[in-house]
Amino acid sequence: MSDLDTALDSLQCAATGLVTDFADVLVRGCLKEHPDLVAYRLAVLSGAIDKVHALVLAERAGSQWAPLPADPAAAHATDTAQVTHHRCTCPFCLHGD
Ligand SMILES: [Zn+2]
Repeated sequence: MSDLDTALDSLQCAATGLVTDFADVLVRGCLKEHPDLVAYRLAVLSGAIDKVHALVLAERAGSQWAPLPADPAAAHATDTAQVTHHRCTCPFCLHGD
């Protein structure tokens, strides 16, 4: 497994953890896991977000992208609907049966 594969798996694990952490915040009003574990996952995510956001800013400033033909919120809603209807038996999937 390459360093890239390891980094992507780490990011996916942190992102899935954030979904659970966020649900804990919204539903329980408290964390189910130790705050140090949650903080580590947030740091993994923040590092990735910072890197991607830097390219968002750089590429918006450039001219290589045509104007977006659709509302980004609508595109996100379409992607979300696909996740909502997804079912599988994967133990890592939030929509597992
Ligand atoms: Zn799945």
